Amino acid sequence: MSDTSPILIWLRRDLRLSDHPAFHTACATGQPVIPVYILDDQYAGLAAAPKYRLGLGIGHFAQVLEEQGSRLILRSGDTALEVLQSLIRETGASAVYWSRQYEPDAVARDSAVKSALKEQGIDARSFGGHLMFEPWTVETKLGGYYKVYTPFWRSVKNRDVEVPLAPPSKLHAPDQWPASDDLADWHMDAAMNRGADVLRPFVRLGEQAAQARLDAFLDNIVAGYNTTRDLPGVDGTSNLSENLALGEISPHQCWHAGWRALEEGKSGAEIFLKELVWREFAYHLMHHTPRILSISWREGWEGFDWNTDEQSAEVIAWKQGRTGIPFVDAAMREMYVTGRMHNRGRMIVASYLTKHLLCHWRIGQKWFEECLIDWDAASNAMGWQWSAGSGPDATPYFRVFNPVTQLDKFDKNRDYAGRWIAEGRSDPHSDALRYFDAIPRSWDIAASDIYPKPVVDAADGRNRALQAYKTRGF
Ligand code: FAD
Repeated sequence: MSDTSPILIWLRRDLRLSDHPAFHTACATGQPVIPVYILDDQYAGLAAAPKYRLGLGIGHFAQVLEEQGSRLILRSGDTALEVLQSLIRETGASAVYWSRQYEPDAVARDSAVKSALKEQGIDARSFGGHLMFEPWTVETKLGGYYKVYTPFWRSVKNRDVEVPLAPPSKLHAPDQWPASDDLADWHMDAAMNRGADVLRPFVRLGEQAAQARLDAFLDNIVAGYNTTRDLPGVDGTSNLSENLALGEISPHQCWHAGWRALEEGKSGAEIFLKELVWREFAYHLMHHTPRILSISWREGWEGFDWNTDEQSAEVIAWKQGRTGIPFVDAAMREMYVTGRMHNRGRMIVASYLTKHLLCHWRIGQKWFEECLIDWDAASNAMGWQWSAGSGPDATPYFRVFNPVTQLDKFDKNRDYAGRWIAEGRSDPHSDALRYFDAIPRSWDIAASDIYPKPVVDAADGRNRALQAYKTRGF
């Protein structure tokens, strides 16, 4: 007799149907499938922009499932285990499948869930999908983990990456659906205030949009990506980080498409593949050294006396995009309006905060977490520590980006600065004005203000940072 008990698919950062091993395996059994999203303490505690974006992603994926004759059951509770156990009781489910996550809190939660469910006879199974190379499968010759990117890249670049799975042909519905919360009651946008409406037009939601983004990137951009990826005023990158963060597309799908482009002679595709591997490297580091999320990765740097005062004038100016350094300010405003920031901007603002202003990288890490719709704990921590000089594979701590010459080099015509800075312009760009619609009124700044003088200018900041490293014995 065939098993008619439902399988719960516990969704987290995997809001897609194609190349989804957990869905694929569950649907292949022919048993009914009940997709579930649980707002447990880990998701309820997300910062403003990632939580808002997650809410949009969940709403969109629920619609997609409805169109397939399925549903997304929403439940909230203190712990995911309690919610899953109550759903098992209500539906008679015999199995729970999910895609693996790698953040230390998620790993602890998932391991506890797996052993508790197994103990009660439930087929509890985790699947891959979020990464191409499971962090524990990439080892140095001596059996350790990689601390530097380039050898990590060399060790994985010729590996076979699983071919993406097709979406399930049918999602069997259970005889009776369990009750679901109403997404509106979760108030996922509550912390966004005025920012939500401004940010919304920049969001590209869901699997289909992500796939279209990938196709457009490979058709029109990737060939010249070697150059364009460094130009913040140009649409020269894939913009897929937002979708990768919530699993609306899988890295495997990007990887195989990237290889096809390379084989078609689009040489920039190799750099794209390398960037995808930077993401894998960030997860590799987080798995092997979870401390990267919270303390300085290099010994000694934890003792560096950074400024940790979030209320200091420098930090406020940095957050508000009012440092008087156009590259920094443009990038900070881009992030506030779009929820994303160009990679070169991320490097510049991180370097300026941690080196010119000598502020702790954790301040920046936290602010990015508040503002980014592509927030990813592993990539964010690695990016901040790399920029500050305290991380693995760090830029040498004494290399201080000059945000003025960087702007001359990468934004020659000031397309980027002009798009994001309104002050002092007779006809400001509409995006520059959007910024003032998004920010809290309490900041009390306006497009008609005079553009500020540098908080710390490029040369003084560099000298100050180098002096600080010297006197502290670095
Ligand atoms: P593309 O240039 O098209 O690259 C393709 C994909 O490769 C990206 O979507 C991303 O998944 C991956 N990738 C590219 N560069 C990196 C990198 N340096 N590190 C890790 N993965 C990379 N990325 C995030 O996804 N979330 C974050 O929270 C995040 N925080 C960062 C903080 C700092 C201080 C720095 C310096 C970098 C951070 N990055 C983060 C990495 C990088 O800036 C973004 O991934 C990239 O800008 C996303 O744009 P894209 O999708 O157009 O990238």
